[in-house]
Amino acid sequence: MSGYTLLPFQFCRTGRDEVLLVSESGDFIFLPEAVFERFIRHELSEQNEDFFRLKSHLFCAGEDVEVALQKTAARYRTRKSFLREFTALHMLVVTLRCNQRCRYCQVSCAEKDAAMYDMDEETAVRAVDMIFRSPTKHPKIEFQGGEPLLNWDVVTAAVIHAERLAAAQRKKVSFVLCTNLTAVTRDQLEFCREHDVVVSTSLDGDRSLHDACRRDRQGRGTYEAFMEKLALAREVLGPDRVGALMTTTSFSLSHLKAVVDEYVRQGMDGIFIRALNPYGFAAEDEAELGYDMERFVEKYLEALEYIIELNKKVFFPEQFATLLFSRMLSPFATGFVDLQSPSGAGIGGVIYDFDGSVFPADEARMLARMGDRHFCLGNVGTDSYADIFAGEKLGNLTRGACLETSFPCAFCAFQAYCGTDPVRNYLETGKEVRNMAHSPFCIKHRGIIMGLFDMLRRADDMTMDIIWSWITHNAGLVHRL
Ligand code: SF4
Ligand code: SF4
Repeated sequence: MSGYTLLPFQFCRTGRDEVLLVSESGDFIFLPEAVFERFIRHELSEQNEDFFRLKSHLFCAGEDVEVALQKTAARYRTRKSFLREFTALHMLVVTLRCNQRCRYCQVSCAEKDAAMYDMDEETAVRAVDMIFRSPTKHPKIEFQGGEPLLNWDVVTAAVIHAERLAAAQRKKVSFVLCTNLTAVTRDQLEFCREHDVVVSTSLDGDRSLHDACRRDRQGRGTYEAFMEKLALAREVLGPDRVGALMTTTSFSLSHLKAVVDEYVRQGMDGIFIRALNPYGFAAEDEAELGYDMERFVEKYLEALEYIIELNKKVFFPEQFATLLFSRMLSPFATGFVDLQSPSGAGIGGVIYDFDGSVFPADEARMLARMGDRHFCLGNVGTDSYADIFAGEKLGNLTRGACLETSFPCAFCAFQAYCGTDPVRNYLETGKEVRNMAHSPFCIKHRGIIMGLFDMLRRADDMTMDIIWSWITHNAGLVHRL
């Protein structure tokens, strides 16, 4: 028996006579099954090459256990450092009205002239005041809807008030306008340019894929109007200030390569292949728009292989894979509120509805729109910052939403890369904390993380350069053909 101490790690069998070990701080190592057996029985020779790898990646320690534990703790703190940015992302729903009526609209947007769904200026100012009580030095304010362009005066008032508070408190505020773009004017874009507001819009693919769901109130496709305004937005703001997101539906699931091609054709700087969320109109129309999560994983991984090939010619990251690769291959924190532990709900991001109600996540607001206000934390008109952010409701939510204390996540090899979603859990089971095994959330993340590990195992030098170019945002790392 060798005199080493095992440090905390999780493991899983890959089905190839080898074991994947992942440490508490996210380092990973593949070991042949026989070596793994010897390792956990303390029978691995300390002169063995694998032993050196295991020790240097903090899966075990020799006599220096204290030092090794301190190093593990330091890495763990670095990984969880996103918690220091309490609460960085603040989403303002300035109106529920929209000029479009997309088939999958997750907020069940309201009619274009339903003015009772507009946030008033007083509520917006109160929300911004609350945002600046947050300890973060870098608040990001996202304007959402509905279509925020339809309540433009409130957007501009909120931006100007936030700039004043940022200057007074020496904070660096950033703004994102989430818009379908089809109603945008040159004046609105010029305001965005002057106030450094980035535009985030939606593009689902080529004309037929985009028009399958993204429609106006008369049911007509919006691709043409969108393209015209996309060109205007790029002209006024510059191409790097306009990004797009896509939503995968049953129409696009088998055509993700075509979606990728359209993004490349339109000069987008990458893509985030997003699954459909079962809220709002998407929930009502799930039979036609939805799909099994296993199928999404399969198609996502196929598309990712295609994107890697594409990157041999052009720099074009897939952003979800970039996030996960970054968690697997680097020690740094990645602040993605939808996939963290404790859950980012309320402590990473928070949303202020048109009437001033505060929710810990966009999905919680969507749930409220479906009639269930379970997650409402309070209202900017009646409650203080402490009531909302230091209250029992958010405290209980955060305490429960930790992978480290949930079954089976606490024993899962992918825990260091995964996250939890109490709102989705509640929607599916009526409970914020649930057994994640076989849940769509787990099927998706487990499947994708396993697929990425498989990709890493097979990766040649070029593929690794591509992956690192995504993580470091450095296109020059790849010597392209
Ligand atoms: S998805 Fe966005 S653009 Fe489409 S109807 Fe809903 S709020 Fe409007
Ligand atoms: S959700 Fe699934 S993949 Fe993620 S940590 Fe939990 S068990 Fe693992």
